[in-house]
Amino acid sequence: MTELTRFYNTFQPSHYDIFLDINRESKQYTGKTTITGDAKAQTIAVHQKNLTIESVQVDGQNRPFTIDAKVDAVRIELANTGDVTLTITYKAALTDSMMGIYPSYYELNGVKKQIIGTQFETNFARQAFPCIDEPEAKATFALAIKFDEHPGETIISNMPEVRNENGIHYFDTTVRMSTYLIAFAFGELQSKQTTTKSGVQVGVFATKAHQANELDFALDIAKRSIEFYEDFYQTPYPLPHSWQLALPDFSAGAMENWGLVTYREAYLLLDPENTALDMKQLIATVIAHELAHQWFGDLVTMKWWDDLWLNESFANMMEYVAIDALEPDWHIWEMFQTSEASAALQRDAIDGVQSVHVQVENPAEIDALFDSAIVYAKGARMLVMVRALIGDDALRAGLKDYLGTHKYNNATGADLWSALGAASKMDLGTIMKSWLEQPGYPVVTAAIVADKLTLTQQQFFSGKGQEVGRKWQIPLNSNYAAAPAIMAEKALTLGDYAQLRAANGKPFRLNLGNNSHFIVKYDRTLLADILNNITTLDAISQLQVLQDLRLLAEGRQIAYADIVPLLARFADSHSNVVSAALYQVASNLKKFVTPNSAEEKDLQAFFNQLSSAQVTRLGWTPKASEVNDDQLTRPVVLNAALYAQNKNAVKTAHDLFTVNKDHLATLPAATRVFILKNEVKNFGSAELFDQLLAAYRQTADGSYKSDLCAALTSTPDATLIGRLIEKFEDADTIKPQDLRAWFRGVLATNEGEQAAWNWIRRDWQWLEETVGGDMEFTTYITVIASIFRTPERLAEFKAFFEPKLNTPGLTREITMDTKMIESRVDLIEAEKDAVNAAITKIIR
Ligand SMILES: [Zn+2]
Repeated sequence: MTELTRFYNTFQPSHYDIFLDINRESKQYTGKTTITGDAKAQTIAVHQKNLTIESVQVDGQNRPFTIDAKVDAVRIELANTGDVTLTITYKAALTDSMMGIYPSYYELNGVKKQIIGTQFETNFARQAFPCIDEPEAKATFALAIKFDEHPGETIISNMPEVRNENGIHYFDTTVRMSTYLIAFAFGELQSKQTTTKSGVQVGVFATKAHQANELDFALDIAKRSIEFYEDFYQTPYPLPHSWQLALPDFSAGAMENWGLVTYREAYLLLDPENTALDMKQLIATVIAHELAHQWFGDLVTMKWWDDLWLNESFANMMEYVAIDALEPDWHIWEMFQTSEASAALQRDAIDGVQSVHVQVENPAEIDALFDSAIVYAKGARMLVMVRALIGDDALRAGLKDYLGTHKYNNATGADLWSALGAASKMDLGTIMKSWLEQPGYPVVTAAIVADKLTLTQQQFFSGKGQEVGRKWQIPLNSNYAAAPAIMAEKALTLGDYAQLRAANGKPFRLNLGNNSHFIVKYDRTLLADILNNITTLDAISQLQVLQDLRLLAEGRQIAYADIVPLLARFADSHSNVVSAALYQVASNLKKFVTPNSAEEKDLQAFFNQLSSAQVTRLGWTPKASEVNDDQLTRPVVLNAALYAQNKNAVKTAHDLFTVNKDHLATLPAATRVFILKNEVKNFGSAELFDQLLAAYRQTADGSYKSDLCAALTSTPDATLIGRLIEKFEDADTIKPQDLRAWFRGVLATNEGEQAAWNWIRRDWQWLEETVGGDMEFTTYITVIASIFRTPERLAEFKAFFEPKLNTPGLTREITMDTKMIESRVDLIEAEKDAVNAAITKIIR
């Protein structure tokens, strides 16, 4: 293995002058980078990747250099250490990999156009210009950019443009920052701008393929988010502007480049007249996430990638804190429970999962760190847990201190704990160590043993797991005062249960608010007590009961068949999160039935029983002034009704389709996807397929695009499935950034599974070449593992992926995913008959 040393140890840059001359026609550019810095050794290495270096000058003199492609380096021999100025000239090519400097493609009135943009996180700045491409190597940057410009084009960057000389755009020198946050973009852009209370210019930029009003929502949220953070952090936004740019080709969701945040179009722009509430909420949280980073990540940056969680976990918590303040009626923390908490609990229960804090050196492995369920979701839960422990006053005071101490510099997790610890007078470092350094989480068993209420903790596994004696410091947050604030020991006894129950007058519960990262296994008596009082519990507590039962069943600690009879109790809840949790459990039952069998008919009848009253109550058409819960519950129950093949639902959806056939985009966005899916599944034809595919290619509305993808991939027709798969590699129809959703859609249908699986095995190399360097790449494997459930598929999965086990960045994913399928196969084998019998018993 090549030894990877940090280049910053031998050369510490203080300032860069970067000149780029970009030609879109030839897809080539030339560059000249001048770096002043402090050389700590006589041989230094500077990062570069795929650059053709033409010359290296040191203090004005040509010097010999060597390229070490293995570690992305140009090595330079210096005459002396100390202050040096390096000037490097080079050539490079624009590639279509969505990394480095790359083109984004779109069509305007039938004409193909492009925007040039950048993506430098994690280590792609080195593909644009030579640099010490490590987060700790902060410096100031002066960018000068020339391109094959024509009238009507705009160029933007982290800082404002200060002058234009001979077609060269000169940007103001940045503040001290990391290379991965540099960004620029140019092309034919439209924008809308406003100013915050404190005078920060805020703008939203997009191609002209969008309606101008699609920029309004983002502009409002961005402005108010910055105002919120300036107040919450008690630290001013440090740059003159904050641009939000939607790029047609974008690999991740969004990227927090300082002053020039880039987004997937679907995560920034929306039609204010017709976008579902949950989509608005999602977009708002994405914007708030990126803007939280402008301080936490950009102003103060993790020292090295092992502390990536510092950036991401924090931004992932703050997006909810901010949106909850901006839009209190949304109850956005409910979304946190259904998305982040649920994802973290699911993935963190698999043996072999990474811990939140991970040692890492290799660039390919750095990209694999971005495990959204762990570094984002679990990490955010850790911080939510801390926030619940210390309260907002201490959180804000600690943050102000942390940002003030480390601004324009770097920090580690320990620095954060020391700042928050000082503000709260708690030893947070010790408490959090058990959560950040260890993978997994505990299940706390609450049981009455010899009349005493006792608690024990043990690591929870979904599937096989090796017990290695891990222990956590668990914030219990019980509703009984007899339970301590923190449970650090393996087991403890709270006292005589009958006395405690009588004194407290309510069922014993742990983890109120579901803010701590553990689940609870109540014994029969305790669980029955909770279930008998279920309607007195708030929505998040009800969701929590369902979520914990589902996980315990996945972990084989309770029987799935025992959960089935409990579900009806939650069916008529008016809370959208309870409905979401209910149908998450119900949908988990689908794996136990063979498609198109009598068992599936019974399961459909069960779905019908659960959903029919709600469908009647809510109907298909959103009503003016209905409450948010109803808006958000409707899609959940309609989806259930259509799975149930409820005759009325199928007919109503078909009628709505027929009436709106010529203007499908105007169907209410919250229900449109079900109307389209129903039509394709139950009334499909080649003609309909062509109509929807053409609409997909034509529309610029991200929500509508995703509805059309969901509808088209649900076709049961083998010929049409074949035609879809042919489109997978046609970037004019399906952009590589969107391909995973198409692949997943086809793979998830009974009729398409084989074809999609054949495709990915046959064209794996193409996929690797197209999106292989991308941090989302491993999720293709996750998608497959989330669907496969038979011993045959398990064997095929192993046969295909085991030879790839040593590919950097794939090892952990393949190992975990193999376990996931194995445990699902075992679970189905063991419990199938009992589950189906339980379902049959209910519907008969
Ligand atoms: Zn982030």
